[in-house]
Amino acid sequence: MTVGSDSRTWSALIGGELRSARSGETIDVVNPATGETIATVPRCGAEDVDDAVSAASAAFESWRHLNPTERARRVNALADAVSEHAEELALLDVAENGSPIREMRGDAHAAAAQLRYFAGLALELRGETIPGDSDRLNYTLMTPFGVVGRIVPFNHPLMFAGAKIAAPLIAGNTVILKPSEHTSTSALRLAELAAEVLPPGVLNVITGYGDEAGDALVVHPGVRRLAFIGSAEIGRHIQQRAATSVVKTVTLELGGKNPVVIFADADVEEAVAGALRGMNFTWQGQSCGSTSRLLVHRSIHDELVTALAAAMDAMRSGPPAEESTETGAIVHRRQYEKVLGYLEIGRAEGARVVAGGGPPDDPRLANGLFVRPTLFDGVDPGSRLAQEEIFGPVLAAMTFDTYEEALQIANGVSLGLTASAFTRDLSLAHRFARDVEAGFVWINDTSKHFPGVPFGGVKDSGVGREESLDELVSYAQVKNVNVRFG
Ligand code: NAD
Repeated sequence: MTVGSDSRTWSALIGGELRSARSGETIDVVNPATGETIATVPRCGAEDVDDAVSAASAAFESWRHLNPTERARRVNALADAVSEHAEELALLDVAENGSPIREMRGDAHAAAAQLRYFAGLALELRGETIPGDSDRLNYTLMTPFGVVGRIVPFNHPLMFAGAKIAAPLIAGNTVILKPSEHTSTSALRLAELAAEVLPPGVLNVITGYGDEAGDALVVHPGVRRLAFIGSAEIGRHIQQRAATSVVKTVTLELGGKNPVVIFADADVEEAVAGALRGMNFTWQGQSCGSTSRLLVHRSIHDELVTALAAAMDAMRSGPPAEESTETGAIVHRRQYEKVLGYLEIGRAEGARVVAGGGPPDDPRLANGLFVRPTLFDGVDPGSRLAQEEIFGPVLAAMTFDTYEEALQIANGVSLGLTASAFTRDLSLAHRFARDVEAGFVWINDTSKHFPGVPFGGVKDSGVGREESLDELVSYAQVKNVNVRFG
């Protein structure tokens, strides 16, 4: 199958019906590796969001009262459909967001795994009895919110679309999902698959711009629970906007400017491999969890930076659909220009490019939005290159002499999502894990997520934890019941 050959006009899913936006307007989907327009998706607006909220509200009463094992059976059936169509779904992502097929295939399987993980937890969402008074029975019920709004970004389109609907559905809510306007087609294919296994209105998928469909979902009084994955800037905006209609519960998974700290006693070979993997160059560094600040002890700096630059230079840029491609295209032109802008900022701030530094020199990629994995050395910890999330294949290296200095640099940013340390000193490792301001810490490791392990940030990186039991519980409200014995 040729990527992009599946060019078509896609439909939103609202109340079990596959349909266009009421306005009839569409958004062009562009392949960032070639510049070609490959499909159109509905440009939904406030009236479509109204329809989706009505449909989700109507479906809620029967969905919430289904036996949890029956809800789990339906969600497992959706997981099976995702597994069965994994290759097709992965190719939609490849054509739309420019990441290599090997990675997007992994994302499709990860989406199915997360759906199954939450389906398996269906009977674990339970209340408790509280010994308040011996003449009374006091217990809690875990009750769903109703209609949940789920807004997700572009970097893992299918994985987020699949994985992030699982917990709210299992907890008995109905869901309105809005994918990124840049990467909507795999979510719309998921919607088609879901229409076969979920009752109408239980899952609705609307596409459109953030400040149109997204905003309408955020302010809708019929949506009491919102979960957002995206940039810190939009996350803060959403917190404000959500409060303009009714009181809402909002969780936010936002950006990162995450440190990987290589202490003097680290195994340099392992640290090089870890720093390379931690940047997620295999999806062009476009990951909230990317360890995009490299802090290296002065004693091993030269050896480590030289080896890392060589490893980065060896990565193969290529057409995303080719199996041998290791790093693909940046998702859209604005993001590409942002990344190129930071390459200029880094140079202007006096940092030294030691790997990459611009587009690849390959005529096959000339029409696409490609940037080589780039390493800046000698970066000032206070500079923009070290402080601001780029969300691209750009790693900023800095040097430190003491633990205190490393920690000060590591914690000296407004974001706090992930952090990593490489050391053979057990107490240093645990001390770092205790002191670093991050929600997710690796020791002698990077990048990897584990099913069931809470993921989320501190400071401006967000509110809430996902990928774990915490996520499931966050989609229920505690109701306390007090019974007096007659
Ligand atoms: P973005 O914030 O621009 O958009 C994310 C989503 O929000 C999209 O669906 C978009 O349409 C929607 N949106 C935009 N403006 C909106 C508004 N005013 N109201 C409602 N919705 C709106 O982010 P992006 O460029 O798609 O993704 C990159 C960002 O996502 C990075 O900052 C990255 O760190 C973050 N991210 C975080 C996590 C995490 O788990 N913490 C995971 C992946 C990505």
